[in-house]
Amino acid sequence: MATFKAIVIEKADKGTQAALADFDEVNLMDGDVTVRVEYSTVNYKDGLAVTGKAPVVRRFPMIAGIDGAGTVEASSHPAWKPGDKVILNGWGCGETHLGCYGEKARLKGDWLVPLPASMSTREAMAIGTAGYTAMLSVMALERHGLTPASGPVVVTGASGGVGSVAIAILAKRGFTVHAVTGRPQEADYLKGLGAAEIIERQELAGPAKPLAKERWAGAVDAVGSTTLANLLSMTRYGGAVAACGLAGGMDLPSSVAPFILRGVCLYGIDSVMCPLPRRKEAWKRLESDLDRQKLAAMTTEIGLSGVPEAAAAILKGEVRGRVVVKIG
Ligand code: NDP
Repeated sequence: MATFKAIVIEKADKGTQAALADFDEVNLMDGDVTVRVEYSTVNYKDGLAVTGKAPVVRRFPMIAGIDGAGTVEASSHPAWKPGDKVILNGWGCGETHLGCYGEKARLKGDWLVPLPASMSTREAMAIGTAGYTAMLSVMALERHGLTPASGPVVVTGASGGVGSVAIAILAKRGFTVHAVTGRPQEADYLKGLGAAEIIERQELAGPAKPLAKERWAGAVDAVGSTTLANLLSMTRYGGAVAACGLAGGMDLPSSVAPFILRGVCLYGIDSVMCPLPRRKEAWKRLESDLDRQKLAAMTTEIGLSGVPEAAAAILKGEVRGRVVVKIG
């Protein structure tokens, strides 16, 4: 019997339980590419899955981990051969398909993106789904036509994974970035990533007016709820908001006023089922538009056994930046 170490989620008397366990290779699911996973990461959704706080996992037992980067071991897919370095983000891994908190993953070749030439598997996972979602959000704002000359762009959930990467990318692109945080003690960290101004979370947390004073040309929002409603009401005429997260809630207590009176656009950002061409574009852009030193400054590393603790911490909003998980 060939087994490997993995974070396995099982059904329990009350809810689910996640633990480091030996997983038998014969129980890997169907797929045309087998990957030796070198690094994974802890995203907000991994936090939900591992703690069982939301019904993210749809199949048991489940190997958690929505992201992985590693080396192809075996492949019957025409695009991939042994030795290729690949990245996996989403596609239901860690939810309906066995995920990447394990030494091996059997995946579909159609899901994989090649590791950019100048990037290590560790850097790819320091970026992870959070960083790739930040890139998709910036790409949406740029497709809308925003440039640094349009005016400042605001990022919410700034100290978190999506927020930290979004700030670094926007700053590198030349935008003036305002960072919204509930952790004012992280002001120096956020300025180090490129934020020009720090805004207290509470300022955007209350009920939103239909229209408020115009402040930002664009926004990347990882928070949702009243924060997103306030962003919409404060977006300048013709501006755009990229909504990618729900760290503050899933509701959106807003009005149509920003859309019909200021021509504001709200873009929805999904990383999980995002088509391959856009993913490849996002990873290409991440190679050139994200400062690696800033990426290193926002990254901490744990091993597989540290995942349950990190999963609980990310849901409490206690994780700063990104956490990579070294596998094996
Ligand atoms: P993190 O936990 O790393 O960051 C979230 C940040 O939001 C926190 O660090 C905190 O920042 C802020 N925050 C937390 N709780 C609240 C609250 N109650 N009210 C206001 N702000 C809060 O998570 P990620 O960055 O990995 O993910 C952010 C969001 O994006 C999540 O909701 C996640 O599910 C979503 N997401 C969506 C994806 C998609 O495909 N659309 C892909 C990836 C993530 P601070 O302390 O600075 O205020």
